[in-house]
Amino acid sequence: MAAANVVIVGGGPAGLLLAHYLLQRGDAYTAELHEARPDLRTESIAARNRQYAIGLSERGRNAIQGVEGLWPLVQKEGAEISRFVLHFGKREQNLKRRADKPSLLINRSQLAATLLAELERRHGPKRLKLHFNSRCLGADFAARTASFSASEKCPYDLLVGADGVRSAVRLEFLKRREFDYQQRSVDNAWKVLHVPRPPGIAVDAVHNYRFQRPGQSGGGPFGLFAKRDPTQGDVFALAIPTNDGGLSVLISWDPKKPPRDFLAIERTDEMSAFLERLIPGITVSPEAAEDFLKQRASGYMQVRCSRYHDSAGRAILIGDAAHANSSALGQGANSSLQDVVALDRILSESRDDIDAALPRYSELMVPEGQALAELTDNFFPRSRALAAVSIARQLALTQISNWFPNRVYPPIQSLTSETLMPYSEIARINRRWLNTVRMSNEKLKMEGLQ
Ligand SMILES: Cc1cc2nc3c(=O)[nH]c(=O)nc-3n(C[C@H](O)[C@H](O)[C@H](O)COP(=O)(O)OP(=O)(O)OC[C@H]3O[C@@H](n4cnc5c(N)ncnc54)[C@H](O)[C@@H]3O)c2cc1C
Repeated sequence: MAAANVVIVGGGPAGLLLAHYLLQRGDAYTAELHEARPDLRTESIAARNRQYAIGLSERGRNAIQGVEGLWPLVQKEGAEISRFVLHFGKREQNLKRRADKPSLLINRSQLAATLLAELERRHGPKRLKLHFNSRCLGADFAARTASFSASEKCPYDLLVGADGVRSAVRLEFLKRREFDYQQRSVDNAWKVLHVPRPPGIAVDAVHNYRFQRPGQSGGGPFGLFAKRDPTQGDVFALAIPTNDGGLSVLISWDPKKPPRDFLAIERTDEMSAFLERLIPGITVSPEAAEDFLKQRASGYMQVRCSRYHDSAGRAILIGDAAHANSSALGQGANSSLQDVVALDRILSESRDDIDAALPRYSELMVPEGQALAELTDNFFPRSRALAAVSIARQLALTQISNWFPNRVYPPIQSLTSETLMPYSEIARINRRWLNTVRMSNEKLKMEGLQ
């Protein structure tokens, strides 16, 4: 039987891992991967300044470990952490993860570069074709061809949309009947700052900061009751140590409640001073401040699809193309890599019958995508009082589940990041709490609109 030619659109973590899995299945498949951007191993400095770090937890690790010998190569490029430190002025609060389930912090582009280099090394050009600067322009589901900016029409036996939150393959799904789709911008803008890590900022933890304006105090337990400026919003920083001695810092704010003082800054010395106050101990060089000022702010988008496959067009969506979320729970890449494991398992169960595998993929994975969305949306309460309860609940469940592991489940964040429990099961166990947070957040939103 001739090998099935799988055209993968998008060379992010999901598309690249899928190519590994398919080619390791033997001669049944060939893979042709098209990536819109240049080969990221040759990216410009401007592109590198925008790169951000992601946390790979149990799900991501398990997925990568499905390809023999791949995890140690990825692990080598990241830094393992098992602590999350909340900073309030001079005070700190440690939230610990299980020491045997550390999170691997790795630059998203470095992760993709590692998967790509190993893909090329293992699989020769006969079974793997890589195309860079090759943007998908659309697909003809009836003819089973896809069009790209850099090549002729490309015939396929299976088309995979792994092309992220603004997927071009998904646009073809929108033309089909019985495909429901929702897209929403999340109230969060972000930029990335890269600075050297000062010795005072521990290397084995992720650090969380909130900007303290003059006159604002630490604000009680967890800083929840810190005095806020009612006329403008907060600025947050998530500082992630990198294995080259640096810090990759994600600076974020709510564009609907803009921090006017921060957004008005135009001069590099003023920006350095602001960032050095936000993260005490760092030094922001004039060059780093200038790069930061020039960087365009990005946002998150949520994507929900009613199905991830199209049988007639023999096409599927994986990763962010199927189910993008904000980074609140840190599960975007982890869930994207899990899609690959699920598809591989379904292909095994169907003995590589692609037509049988596609509907099964949606049947299993759409409920997972919906549950992840529910968990992400209702993870964090906007109300300060409920946020205090949420943190207390998290600490209590962590402790009690350690004492009675067979009777009490750990909190949501531990279940998503330290186990392989399906998201649908985690949502089911926590439904009452998720509904409480959802109703409280909706109420606050309505009050804000009045
Ligand atoms: C600031 C930030 C922090 C995050 N932190 C975490 C975290 O801690 N943990 C976690 O699990 N996740 C995190 N995420 C989410 C994670 O980055 C994504 O979920 C993950 O990268 C999705 O992988 P993907 O391969 O599906 O899509 P992508 O990584 O978006 O890759 C898609 C690829 O497709 C290419 N492409 C796009 N359009 C086309 C086209 N038309 N033709 C050809 N190629 C195309 C793109 O260039 C890109 O390379 C974070 C995201 C952000 C923005």
